[in-house]
Amino acid sequence: MPLIRQSGGCWQRWFVTAFCLACVSCATQAPRTEPTPADTSQAVPAPKPATPAPAETKAPVTEVRIAAVGDIMLGGTAGPEMQKYGYDYPFDRTQSILKQAQIVFGNLEGPLTDGGANETPKKYVFRSPPDKVAPALARAGFNIVSLANNHSLDYGPQGLEDTRVALEKAGIHGVGAGRNLAEARTAVYMKAGGSTVAFLAYSLTFPEEFWAGPDKPGTAFGHEQQVREDVAAARAKADIVVVSFHWGQEGKTELRDYQVQLAHTAIDAGANAVVGHHPHVLQGVEHYKQGVILYSLGNFAFGSFSNTATRSAIAQLTFRDRQWNELRLTPINVRNAEVVFQPRPLTGRDAAEVVEQLQQMSRARQTALENRDGVAVLTAGSN
Ligand SMILES: [Zn+2]
Repeated sequence: MPLIRQSGGCWQRWFVTAFCLACVSCATQAPRTEPTPADTSQAVPAPKPATPAPAETKAPVTEVRIAAVGDIMLGGTAGPEMQKYGYDYPFDRTQSILKQAQIVFGNLEGPLTDGGANETPKKYVFRSPPDKVAPALARAGFNIVSLANNHSLDYGPQGLEDTRVALEKAGIHGVGAGRNLAEARTAVYMKAGGSTVAFLAYSLTFPEEFWAGPDKPGTAFGHEQQVREDVAAARAKADIVVVSFHWGQEGKTELRDYQVQLAHTAIDAGANAVVGHHPHVLQGVEHYKQGVILYSLGNFAFGSFSNTATRSAIAQLTFRDRQWNELRLTPINVRNAEVVFQPRPLTGRDAAEVVEQLQQMSRARQTALENRDGVAVLTAGSN
């Protein structure tokens, strides 16, 4: 699937706009209300001895744990296995990791529908049974999925609508797609660990027909200015903001320039974490300012056979007192010729190899991951 290439001119235009907006400062200040002088005709009562202030009660530390995985698609070539083993099977080996988090996020790559119409000519179209997949995702721990990707409208607006209905019935939020652009850009707010967490999701992938318009169903496209506005609006209402991008080049570990720029834009606007996917393989991690960027989480449970999509990771993000605090990336085997659509945690040498690869890719973004017993770890205090 080809990707959008942002022309330099486009970015420059956005930066100029951003600069101009930044120059508009708040020129007026709210008038200060001065205290009215007391009536001096009466004696001023002597001030009461100050009662000792109660011992300062420290607000409890809030901790939010979010697990995030890449692409999930239980149709395609996985269909026969799912019929045979059931739809809980793909998550049997990983749900214990996922369920350590209060919020579990993934990219749902393909509609949950029995109907809809395949309107756009495409090489690959996916769909899977809503009454099976949505409840299985919920049982595995998922409570939010991104619908902003290049498959959500494989079965047209009806397929997208069926997906949203099935997810809602299973208690899972869908984010990044809707009946119009405004709905697609709407943040999902979730409560966890004493905090409010906002999620936004965008797809920067073709086909263009899938992008939502003012009166057209589809996915939210990650225009820089819109991302900036949406993140700032979510920031005002939430303690933590997570932004998902479907982007990058399939099968490539190298980043596109626009991925870095857009991720930085999201963090600069107030996001705490950026979670990417679409390349089907892992890409590096970056510790940028107060936030963390996972450029691509690769595949999770995905119904196709591939010689390149073989290694991936489950991300566990911890946030303390509204700040990103720690990232753990647990390597998993997603080579379907071996694991048959059931991702499995890697151990020993296999895990170490994935951690080494993540370390190498992240070094290019000036970020040093630690290898802690076969898990790649990054803490906010490091780097
Ligand atoms: Zn994709």
